[in-house]
Amino acid sequence: MPPENTNSVLVVSGDDCIIFDAWGRADDWQKLLESRGLKLRAIYATHGHGDHISAAPELSRRYNVPWFLNSADVPLILWKREMLDSFGLPRIADDFVKPNDLRAGAVKILGDIDMEIIAAPGHSAGGVMFYFPEYKILLSGDTIFHDGVWRTDLPGGNADELDKTISELIARDLPDDTYVVHGHGVDSMMRDIKARFSHSGL
Ligand SMILES: [Zn+2]
Repeated sequence: MPPENTNSVLVVSGDDCIIFDAWGRADDWQKLLESRGLKLRAIYATHGHGDHISAAPELSRRYNVPWFLNSADVPLILWKREMLDSFGLPRIADDFVKPNDLRAGAVKILGDIDMEIIAAPGHSAGGVMFYFPEYKILLSGDTIFHDGVWRTDLPGGNADELDKTISELIARDLPDDTYVVHGHGVDSMMRDIKARFSHSGL
């Protein structure tokens, strides 16, 4: 069964923007950017599964901007290209633009937006989450979903690692009113995630 459509996130500051999880096709992103008069500066990926990076290498090539993915997920880039066929999406080219490595830590994006890159192995070996402390927004990727379901059966998945990642996220104690955008499905609030996982015995 194909996954639900992926949640891509566009962060805009002035005329500049960054795409998180560039799902879909590069042509559609180009139309969106042109219709809004936006300049693409970079692309970040929560992890390397095809439904989170399908447009990233091509956008990187077209706009000559870097795209970022943790190096542990680079082997996933060409995995299961037929999954993109089932969405009618172009396959990622054999000579795709290679991503820049994405490491855990604090960075600034688009000049002055603080972003924390949180290592989140488990759903895949190189998974990360992105946290914006000023805005209290977390992009969780596929590490957690609104209904708490997570999966480790895809390449790079590891249930013990994912348990540890989720325990560490809960221990980080982000504000209850942190808005969480998941890789698929509807959004949540951190208070709901804390409540759910504090009952799960993790
Ligand atoms: Zn995934």
